[in-house]
Amino acid sequence: MQLLEERIRRDGKIREGGVLKVDSFLNHQMDVALFGEIGREFARLFEGQNVTKILTIEASGIGIACIAAQYFNVPVIFAKKNKTKNIAGDVYTSKVESFTHGKVYDIIVSKEFLHSEDRVLLIDDFLANGSALQGLIKLVEAAGATVVGAGICVEKAFQPGGDLIREMGVRVESLARIKSMSVEGGVEFC
Ligand code: 5GP
Repeated sequence: MQLLEERIRRDGKIREGGVLKVDSFLNHQMDVALFGEIGREFARLFEGQNVTKILTIEASGIGIACIAAQYFNVPVIFAKKNKTKNIAGDVYTSKVESFTHGKVYDIIVSKEFLHSEDRVLLIDDFLANGSALQGLIKLVEAAGATVVGAGICVEKAFQPGGDLIREMGVRVESLARIKSMSVEGGVEFC
């Protein structure tokens, strides 16, 4: 998606360790008009797939998922990062290793909101090693629901997540795919 690539080139900040900061438009300050275009593009890509729920992960996926959901007319569920040790039986749970913080944490979704007849579109801001998406896929599978695919804003294609998830048979649509990036050389798209 050209609009997003241009914005990344203009306002993205490359940090050491393969981290792209997009705090000025995507995950701290949020450009809602841009989110609208992103949502419209996800709706075009997944048209006719009978999506019944959008599932994302807190916190930075939530805004994007909510704006996208307006084009699908479906509810958004966000997987919560669980803070307590005791997980009650009325939730689906899986584990995610944070790319940015390096910690492993549990994510949960209440059984009340995911059902076997659901057709779920996963949405997230970044795809790096694929741990967040794998965690979300496990939640959907635990509910016996169907993963329609994943809509990703920025895929760092130089990391293994995209290949890993596609090899699982999940359709991944990334609006900007970064081939390489460096502090000196900037961003190169696929
Ligand atoms: P993964 O689980 O695929 O390794 O990483 C995906 C998650 O890590 C996303 O939900 C995102 O919040 C975070 N993330 C991964 N890479 C980056 C990055 O380069 N920049 C930012 N801002 N977040 C990232």
